[in-house]
Amino acid sequence: MAEIQPLQAFGFIAPQLSSHYTTYDDNQNVLIFLNYFEIDNQMLILISPLPIEYCQQSFIIFSSNILPRYRVSQKLLISIEQFKSIVSFNLLLFGDLYLTNKAQSIPNNARNFQTFINPNPLPQINILVVPGVYSINFDQIYEFLECKLTQKNQFIKPLTQLNCLVYTTTPYRVCNIQYQFTKTTQLIDYFFYLIDNSIYSDINEIQQIFMLDNPNGTLLDFLQGKYYQPSVNFIQAIRKNFYYNAQDTNFYIIQQIKCINQMHQQADYIKISCPNCENGNKCTLLSSNNQQIYFAGESSLFKYPLSIKFIDLVCRTFSPLICQLMLIANAQNATYKIGRLAHIQRIEEAISCPSFNSQRNYQNLEMLGDVVIKYLTSAMLFEETRFKTERALTTARVHLITNKYLSQIYGQLKLNIMNTKLNSKKMLNHMSMIINEQEDPKLSQKQQADIYEALCGACYIKNYEFKDQINFFKLTKFQFYGKVQQFYRGKPLIDFQQNPKDEQDDNEYPLKKQIMLRPFSETLKFNQPFEEFENYLGCKLNMIQEAMTVDLFEKLEFFGDAILELLVIVNVHKECERLYYTPQHQQLCREGKIPQKLLLCPGMLHTAKISLLDSGFMGTMAIYHNFHQYARNLSFETQNDIKKVLTLLRDDQFSDFRKINKYSSQIPKIMSDLWESVAACILVEHGWEMVVKIYGEMYKPYIKYVVDNISLIYDFYQNQENLK
Ligand SMILES: [Zn+2]
Repeated sequence: MAEIQPLQAFGFIAPQLSSHYTTYDDNQNVLIFLNYFEIDNQMLILISPLPIEYCQQSFIIFSSNILPRYRVSQKLLISIEQFKSIVSFNLLLFGDLYLTNKAQSIPNNARNFQTFINPNPLPQINILVVPGVYSINFDQIYEFLECKLTQKNQFIKPLTQLNCLVYTTTPYRVCNIQYQFTKTTQLIDYFFYLIDNSIYSDINEIQQIFMLDNPNGTLLDFLQGKYYQPSVNFIQAIRKNFYYNAQDTNFYIIQQIKCINQMHQQADYIKISCPNCENGNKCTLLSSNNQQIYFAGESSLFKYPLSIKFIDLVCRTFSPLICQLMLIANAQNATYKIGRLAHIQRIEEAISCPSFNSQRNYQNLEMLGDVVIKYLTSAMLFEETRFKTERALTTARVHLITNKYLSQIYGQLKLNIMNTKLNSKKMLNHMSMIINEQEDPKLSQKQQADIYEALCGACYIKNYEFKDQINFFKLTKFQFYGKVQQFYRGKPLIDFQQNPKDEQDDNEYPLKKQIMLRPFSETLKFNQPFEEFENYLGCKLNMIQEAMTVDLFEKLEFFGDAILELLVIVNVHKECERLYYTPQHQQLCREGKIPQKLLLCPGMLHTAKISLLDSGFMGTMAIYHNFHQYARNLSFETQNDIKKVLTLLRDDQFSDFRKINKYSSQIPKIMSDLWESVAACILVEHGWEMVVKIYGEMYKPYIKYVVDNISLIYDFYQNQENLK
């Protein structure tokens, strides 16, 4: 009867990590992929069954900076014998690191070699680790296997430096040397060692714990129990287990290495930060808190065949690195699935849920995607003649972009299995056969819709081209049928690097500077000739009559609303990302060194949106640029309201950003409607280039001000919310 091999299962794992290795030439050769990582000036080589593609950005795990050396894994064909050696190396090494080896040989519960080269019934992590810097160091692998499998034990040399690992054979324990002593070493010297290493605070405490009246004599005599009273249990146990030989001249205090699962014991696995891995310190498998220490003579200690540096690196980084590789592989697979319409690092961001990465996740891209979808659907509906009113258009748009619909088309992409992250705490022993509970990731409808929007944002941001976004619509069968070329080409990007001389760091509210150069108009005029307005704006507009006439501008206003939202959000996102979303920022935030509000987040984008797109701001801008003078069909009442508010605006110094939004209740809503409809009029007739030239220039100093002062403005709106 065939034996059923149970495996440790994790739910979905990307095939790059879980697929079996492929053999060739009648099972004589095996194809492997080498993944090189530069970690804290050391090299770690991991072997994967399929190639992994990296965006070659370094990432930080538990304060270790990890840089993938190549953009893609390096292919290598090795013999089946070599591959077997690598697998045995891993089974033995991880047996030692998970502390499951009862002897030098392969642990009983270890996986069988066949599980690495045959299709797996359940997903299993098939990543292997090898020693080496530029290539696999097979000599080191064979040396290790020889020691372990043929039980060829190598004595430690006296005078050896304490920087190697040792093991005892009865029982089998891999240990770290803490203290070396001879027959003449005094007991008191050992006590000073304990105090120096903060294990005990002073001699009195040690004497009390050891139940010792007199600390004179040698350590060796004490451990043998010669001339000493029976002591506390643990000393009695040490005495009983003290292995040495009559010829021994050197003795050692040793401590068993920590289990790999106990590394980063105090770490926060959500934030991927470890308080013990900071400021140059790193967790090490050598510093175990347990007081299980052993004494042994040189004849019962053997040299462990791998360096502490290598073992430490594997212990510190292996599990968290596997989790990161899972995310990288998921992003790679998702990028292919959506036809490479977005950069892999953006996809990584788009498929990351806030619950497993609170710093870098889909939320910012979702907000960006949301305005891009809103713009494109608004343009598409604007093309249609059957919608006459703003209300009809808005209703149609709402019906088009429901969470239900977006989550449904997202579901068809079958990406949801990629939105999970493996928690390294769940990796109990990937080389053994334990069954772990399987997890089926469930995302809510809202979350799926959000991720769909984030993917839209990811596609759009690749080149800021609408065509990439429209291709994503096609791929996902989103109902899009826009045709007018003018609406779907061009970019809404404002050049913030231009004229750097004008932008001094005075940090004053732009309107304050503008009214010093040209104040609000003093004379109240209405129904002025359109030609004058066109000259002011700097372009001819055939539809100016429609744009400026109350009751006629509704369609343009509907479109203009989406245009300005895109203009503002795209530019704020780009500038905020440049200033507040670098990998360094994300890391500082993760470690709690800068507040979350200083990292680009939806709150920031939302703050910009209410600062620059509310009716107070847009209405003030429209009056400052004299839109009211050219409007048609303004009621007597509206004209009167404009007259009143213009008096207030003329008196205001605008020394503070807080002022402007308060006008929202005093300026007639028609003014912000005109501000929007003229934007649409310009786009319809001249395209995005002209919108950026006219509205981009008008918005530029304000966007820059909001971005520079984002946390101040953010706090202001937060407090206002709280007061309500
Ligand atoms: Zn740590």
